[in-house]
Parts: sequence; C-alpha cells; structure tokens
Amino acid sequence: MSLAGKIAIVTGGSRGIGRGICIALAKAGADVVTCYAHGADGANETVALCKEYGVRAEAVQADVAKNDDVARMVSYVKETYGSIDIFVNNAGITKDNLLMKMTEDDFDAVLDTNLKGAFLCIRHIAKIMLKQKSGHIINISSVVGVSGNAGQANYAASKAGMIGLTKSVAKELGSRGITCNAVAPGFIETDMTAKLPEDIIAQMKNSIPMKSLGQVEDVANLVAFLASEEARYITGQVICVDGGMAV
Ligand code: NDP
Repeated sequence: MSLAGKIAIVTGGSRGIGRGICIALAKAGADVVTCYAHGADGANETVALCKEYGVRAEAVQADVAKNDDVARMVSYVKETYGSIDIFVNNAGITKDNLLMKMTEDDFDAVLDTNLKGAFLCIRHIAKIMLKQKSGHIINISSVVGVSGNAGQANYAASKAGMIGLTKSVAKELGSRGITCNAVAPGFIETDMTAKLPEDIIAQMKNSIPMKSLGQVEDVANLVAFLASEEARYITGQVICVDGGMAV
C-alpha cells in the first residue's frame, strides 16, 4: 500500500490520534499538512516526525470551527501543493457532564468543533476534490456516536452527526470518484482519555471484549488504508476500532 505523491490534510495533528494519523500517512509516502487550534509546539513535533519518512510536512494554525480559518488553510494547501487527495477530519474536543448539568455553551462548543468543523472542512475540500474527480475523506467519529454514553450527550450527538454527514457526503460525491468513510474509535490511550478517573478507566477496560485500551496506531493504520487506492470501492461506511466495545 503506497500513498506516494498524495497530498493529505489532517486536522488536529498536535498530539494523540491526529499525530498518529499524520505519521501513518507520511510512512506510506504522503505529504502531510496538519492544523491545530492552540498547540503549535505539538504540531511542529508531529511535522518533524513525518519528515523522518522523507515527505513534505507542515503545520498551520486553523480553528476548524471558524469558516475563514478553514478557507485559508484549504486554499493555502491547494496553492502550495497543487492538489488535496486525502482529508482527515480528526480535530475534536470533549466537555463532559451529566445532561442536567450540561450548559448550553458546552453543548455548542462541542458541536461547533466536532460537527460544524467537519462540515466546514468538507465543504471547502469538496470543491477541490470535485474538480479533481477524486479524493478520500475520512471522518473520525466515535463508538459513542453509535451507542451513546451517559455524561457525553453533546459529544455523542456530535459524533452521531458525523456519521450522518459521512453517509450523506458518500451519496452526494460518490459518482465523482470521491469516497467518504467514518472511523469510530473506542477507548484509545491519548490525552483525551488520560483525564478520566482511574476507576472509570478500569470499568471501561472491563467492558471491552479485548480487555485492553486501543493505541493510536490501531486507528491510524485503518485511516491510511481508507486513504489508499486499495480502498477505492469502500464508501459511506462506519468502521469501529474498539476491541469489540460496540458489538
Ligand atoms: P486529543 O485531545 O489528544 O487531541 C485533539 C486534537 O484536536 C488536538 O490536536 C487539538 O489541537 C485539535 N483540536 C481541538 N479543537 C480544535 C479546533 N477547533 N481546531 C483545530 N484543531 C483542534 O484527542 P484524541 O487524539 O484523543 O482524539 C482525536 C479524535 O478522535 C477526536 O475527534 C476524538 O473525538 C476522536 N476519538 C478519540 C477517542 C479516544 O479514546 N481518544 C475515542 C473516539 C474518538 P490543539 O493542540 O490546538 O488543542
């Protein structure tokens, strides 16, 4: 499987799963541009790790919830690199709380970054991919978008929304050679999950058929496959990487 000569954008590559995806795409030969909201240092570290594979890589500041930022990032990549072959919607946040304690601001913030951000990015990227008549879009959803989760009404709604977005985009753009799939990670070891209390982590582990947490690479390897020509006939799918959690 080779992505040599392909140009990829991965949102939220300053750490965690986004960083892992950038590295997996670079390892397969793609040039990678990533964006971050605040974490410039982390994003620059990701860039350095990608460059070890001999590809071009860079990081740009862009808040995916802001249309002007997204427009600037997408036109910069198109002008500098000539095409955009792979787009990974990875940037995401959580603001967990029980429904009765969840504020309207926390609901809006999570929906704005996770769902509206994905929509804004796809709308700008699709213009380019439609002209190219090719492209792979991969949305990082979550198993909680499939099954829901107490304390995560905002997050689960945003991730379920990404699944509807994925299937609609797949139907709308499929005839133009563009695929759109969702990857739904389970419980992956990153900063996002590190902030959970020990007892919750132990409880989660116990509920996973494989009895262990996933690693960033487990998600990143699937994304690299979905970004490749080997996956050309797969679209509109939601693939869980969760050790059997959602079964
Ligand atoms: P992290 O919190 O470790 O990283 C999130 C990344 O998103 C950071 O690079 C962050 O950049 C970026 N980001 C956040 N908000 C914005 C924004 N508005 N604009 C641009 N970039 C932004 O998360 P994970 O690596 O754990 O998660 C990555 C994705 O995978 C998320 O979509 C998450 O919902 C999903 N996921 C994770 C699971 C897990 O178990 N870890 C399980 C299921 C899904 P910055 O440095 O600027 O903050």
